[in-house]
Amino acid sequence: MRGRLGIIGYPLGHSMSPVMFRAGMKEYGLDVTYDAWEVAPEKLEDFLEEVRSSDGEILGFNATVPHKEAVMAAMDEVSEEAQRAGAVNTVVNDDGRLVGYNTDGTGFVRALREEAGFAFDHKRVLIIGAGGAARGVVMALSGEAVADFTIANRTRERGDGLADNLRRHFGGGVRVVSLESSDFRRAAGSADLIVQCTTMGMLHSPAAEASPLRTADISADAVVYDLVYNPPETPLMREAVRAGARVYGGLSMLVYQGAVGFETWMGSPAPVKAMFEAAQTALAKQQESIKG
Ligand code: NAP
Repeated sequence: MRGRLGIIGYPLGHSMSPVMFRAGMKEYGLDVTYDAWEVAPEKLEDFLEEVRSSDGEILGFNATVPHKEAVMAAMDEVSEEAQRAGAVNTVVNDDGRLVGYNTDGTGFVRALREEAGFAFDHKRVLIIGAGGAARGVVMALSGEAVADFTIANRTRERGDGLADNLRRHFGGGVRVVSLESSDFRRAAGSADLIVQCTTMGMLHSPAAEASPLRTADISADAVVYDLVYNPPETPLMREAVRAGARVYGGLSMLVYQGAVGFETWMGSPAPVKAMFEAAQTALAKQQESIKG
């Protein structure tokens, strides 16, 4: 296979996708390039036209902030997952017809299953956050046989909105609690899986040093997954390690959502190991340059 792929965003910053996908293409000896394309929102329409009229040379692309919703609106076809997630992050150019997918949720489920060996059946899930990432995760988990969901968000209305959406696809219990409440801490104590989907703990975010939970709130039997991957260890992860929980950072989700995208474009299993190693190396380099 030959052709071009890339990621569009604005601004693009330090995207890990080029490094990860190039490693995947190299592993399989594919003549496919993967570039970072900074596309301003007002140039999105021109970009999509370029893809459509490229005679299949541009095989597709990934979309990140701020394009995920606008890209979805411009697709000729949108997958069920992307419709549920309300956003498209992976596009296939099928002879000028653009088909949109969302690989975040599937990537998250595969990361937990394959990296952590996690079995979802009958598990009690606590979701912290109600933004775009939380929505993708929750919608993917709604397809698993989990027992129930508790959603905790700073802004109550946003938590309620996510819960309403979830109830359309999930027949089990769904409740919403406030981030500051004792109900939230109790939910953390009884959850089998805690998924941190806010920007708390994320490098350069205003709440980079914050953790939504303390050690005493977290059960030693819980699995704690923090979607944040930079830094590799967040304040929540430190609290959860002290609680004796099994703890994972978000890099595996990033890699597996990329792997699902790779498989969507290439139609064959992704070289996950090569992609993982490339992403880990790139993240370690970013850490070194931050430490200076
Ligand atoms: P988003 O749509 O902007 O949502 C942000 C969420 O964080 C909201 O729930 C927001 O609550 C909450 N929040 C922000 N600041 C907060 C604070 N100081 N205290 C409490 N809650 C706060 O962002 P997103 O796209 O969902 O991304 C969320 C995180 O997931 C980011 O760190 C992103 O890097 C990560 N992510 C990782 C992957 C991966 O592959 N590992 C994939 C996607 C996203 P309000 O509703 O109250 O504002």
